[in-house]
Amino acid sequence: MNNLFKIIVLALIITITMGVTANAAEKKVRLKLATTWGPTLEPFSSAVREFADTVEKMSGGTLTIRVDYANKHKAPFGVFDMVKLGQYDMAHSASYYWKGKDTAFLPLTSMPFGLTAVETYAWFYYGGGMDLANKAYNPHNMYFFPGGNTGVQMGGWFRKEINTLDDFKGLKMRIPGFAGEIMAKLGLNVTNIAPGELYTSLERGTIDALEWVGPGMDFKMGFHKIAPYYYTGWHEPGSEMQFLMNQKKFDSLSEAHQEILRVAMRTTAYDLFTKNYALSANAWETMLKENPNIKVKTFSKTIMDAMKGANAELLTKMKAANPLFKEILESQEKFQQKARKWTEMSEYLYVKDNLVE
Ligand code: CA
Repeated sequence: MNNLFKIIVLALIITITMGVTANAAEKKVRLKLATTWGPTLEPFSSAVREFADTVEKMSGGTLTIRVDYANKHKAPFGVFDMVKLGQYDMAHSASYYWKGKDTAFLPLTSMPFGLTAVETYAWFYYGGGMDLANKAYNPHNMYFFPGGNTGVQMGGWFRKEINTLDDFKGLKMRIPGFAGEIMAKLGLNVTNIAPGELYTSLERGTIDALEWVGPGMDFKMGFHKIAPYYYTGWHEPGSEMQFLMNQKKFDSLSEAHQEILRVAMRTTAYDLFTKNYALSANAWETMLKENPNIKVKTFSKTIMDAMKGANAELLTKMKAANPLFKEILESQEKFQQKARKWTEMSEYLYVKDNLVE
């Protein structure tokens, strides 16, 4: 055996031994995760379950996650505070639900007339978005991670056709985020309702209209039985769900566990995006065929212009009121300017020139 070979063998033995020792020495950690969703809200609920399974396998069982759905912890919109205070280590939710705490959280989900899903990911991972998201969340003792995108959301289900701006007046609608602010400005009574209570609220007349996500998630909720006018989207062009992680807890984990969580969250986000896309494609194919009462509509140009006008006015006011909101939004706007030119040149032109029959 020559010396070089001996050295290589020795180095290999040391590396393997260290690896085994590190793994054996890895402290067992159990994290608790709370979701805003119930256990059957697909594909959100299974995404979180699969995330926990992935983490357990990747860590060789040294890092496990207990998932508590909203039916267990009873506080779908309480997960922010629970993770902040350390009652839970993690949450899966959506950032715009926390607009009452800080408007800077709004653009981290989606903004009306804003970024598409692909543009959103490009902004988060390669356009400075992650740093800005954590600038908003770190003061609350939390880290933000992208948690899966819904793609373009549909504009919602209405009992009656919306022809003029007057048809909006006094209408009670469930619509969260910045879009809710716009609709309120156009005369609607806007509210946010937890996912588990949407159908009954519509059925009982607590609300007249609602937006949820898109065909993949909407159709099985049965909204079309009560409100058959289904409007195309404008308000959530690429809504990103979120993982929230208690900062102190994350910092206390080993580098290996931190990396496992980061990789698993990124994979989960991507998987949720593609899964939801497939679900919507499937639902769109069967939905209209089986339910001729569903009428797919697009808001008129007058209505869209009014929405855009209200949007611009509110943005100016909100930027002036909150420097961090301004910083995050302007970063997105700048990125959108650049990215959209490429989106138009690539996806848009390709799709436009190759429409299916
Ligand atoms: Ca929505």
